[in-house]
Amino acid sequence: MTKRLLIVGPPGSGKGTQAARITEGLGVVAISTGDIFRANVKEMTPLGIEAKKYMDRGDYVPDSVTNSMVEDRLAQDDVKDGFLLDGYPRTVAQVEFLDGVLKAKGQDLDAVILLTADEDELVKRLLKRAEIEGRDDDTEDVIRHRLSVYKEQTADVVAAYRDRGLVREVDGLGELDEVTARIMDALKA
Ligand code: ADP
Repeated sequence: MTKRLLIVGPPGSGKGTQAARITEGLGVVAISTGDIFRANVKEMTPLGIEAKKYMDRGDYVPDSVTNSMVEDRLAQDDVKDGFLLDGYPRTVAQVEFLDGVLKAKGQDLDAVILLTADEDELVKRLLKRAEIEGRDDDTEDVIRHRLSVYKEQTADVVAAYRDRGLVREVDGLGELDEVTARIMDALKA
């Protein structure tokens, strides 16, 4: 069974929920770089203070910071049975760095879960969420822009893993249980 995984998916695709379910099902740890950064910002650690400068502007944290954080995390004991990385790698440089970290441990990635969803459906979901959470500035235009940024930013990373035959594309629309089952099936394939 597959154990060293990445998950990639657009905003509104339910990626976070599915990541939690998959890691529980497989008994591997979930590593979300966004969550780690946010926790460090909250605790005002040196890493958090550094990362916040970029996050506040909506920029990526520099690779030097992000890469060493991930390297440290992957060196911890609980990762030995596997992991699901969420939000990393986001750039081709990060892909290469991760390759190096895993190679040094004699490990390989097993699969990249790519959650997909019809764009109009995502827009509908995100508009509904914005309404419930009272985010008035999340207009349809803003949401469509965010989705196109996502596509642009993930294209190279996804392409790199597609070339290696690692990408398992899964439709993220439908009941939560249904989507989880699709992902598990795709990992067994
Ligand atoms: P989003 O809000 O886009 O879903 P995340 O919650 O994954 O993003 O991450 C929040 C922020 O943390 C990002 O906007 C970015 O500043 C930083 N971050 C997370 N992962 C990475 C990464 N792999 N490389 C650089 N910066 C990252």
